[in-house]
Amino acid sequence: TEEMIIRSEKLSIVGQLAAGVAHEIRNPLTTLKGFTQLLKAGKRNDAYIDLMQVELERINQIVSEFMVIAKPQNVELQQHDLYKIIDDVIQFMEMQAIMNKVEIKYNLIENVTCICNQDQLKQVFINILKNAIEAMPNGGNIDILMSCTEESIDIQFIDYGTGIPQEILSRLGEPFFTTKETGTGLGIMVCQKIIEAHKGTMQIESELNKGTKIMIVLPNVKQFG
Ligand code: ADP
Ligand code: MG
Repeated sequence: TEEMIIRSEKLSIVGQLAAGVAHEIRNPLTTLKGFTQLLKAGKRNDAYIDLMQVELERINQIVSEFMVIAKPQNVELQQHDLYKIIDDVIQFMEMQAIMNKVEIKYNLIENVTCICNQDQLKQVFINILKNAIEAMPNGGNIDILMSCTEESIDIQFIDYGTGIPQEILSRLGEPFFTTKETGTGLGIMVCQKIIEAHKGTMQIESELNKGTKIMIVLPNVKQFG
């Protein structure tokens, strides 16, 4: 049946990803092994410990992002207040924004409900905001806009950062594709998977040295009765 085909496709994607995860984790593990050997040999150095923490954090990131992909996609969807979800995420990201001289400005509509998995949707917005902050090394603004029609809810995240070159734009969503030294290259892929599971769409527009706009459209499902 069709469902079985979809499921086996999903399994092979997870299998491919698992191989990628193993590969990506091997590098930081090798580094960690090297440092433990140095420490064991009595070469104590706080810088080693800092570097070990960076590598451990990298493994942690890869594993937790992989969990989102590998988890069964038929997650429970419930009615939630979208304003509250985005507001929570902004609060959560506030410290990272401030530390990077970034101001998150938003114009949200209240009382918009959305049929979603709250944690997954938060993960999407966090990944997008993280990328936006990381794209503005000298700080700046991020705008979050929201609009609504009978059929859809539109959410836009606009940053005024580095922008994305054309050749990179076409590779976004490819697992482990990153231009960052400490990136996992899983953030956008996770966003796409989650938005897909919500029957929505995600589009990325970008102009080099101007900035990037991420547009998410979710179905506006009214609950009857
Ligand atoms: P990561 O952030 O770990 O690199 P992502 O999947 O989140 O992985 O992003 C992949 C790549 O897409 C980034 O390395 C970066 O080159 C590019 N990118 C994503 N969002 C933005 C953005 N807002 N501005 C500029 N580049 C971006
Ligand atoms: Mg990212």
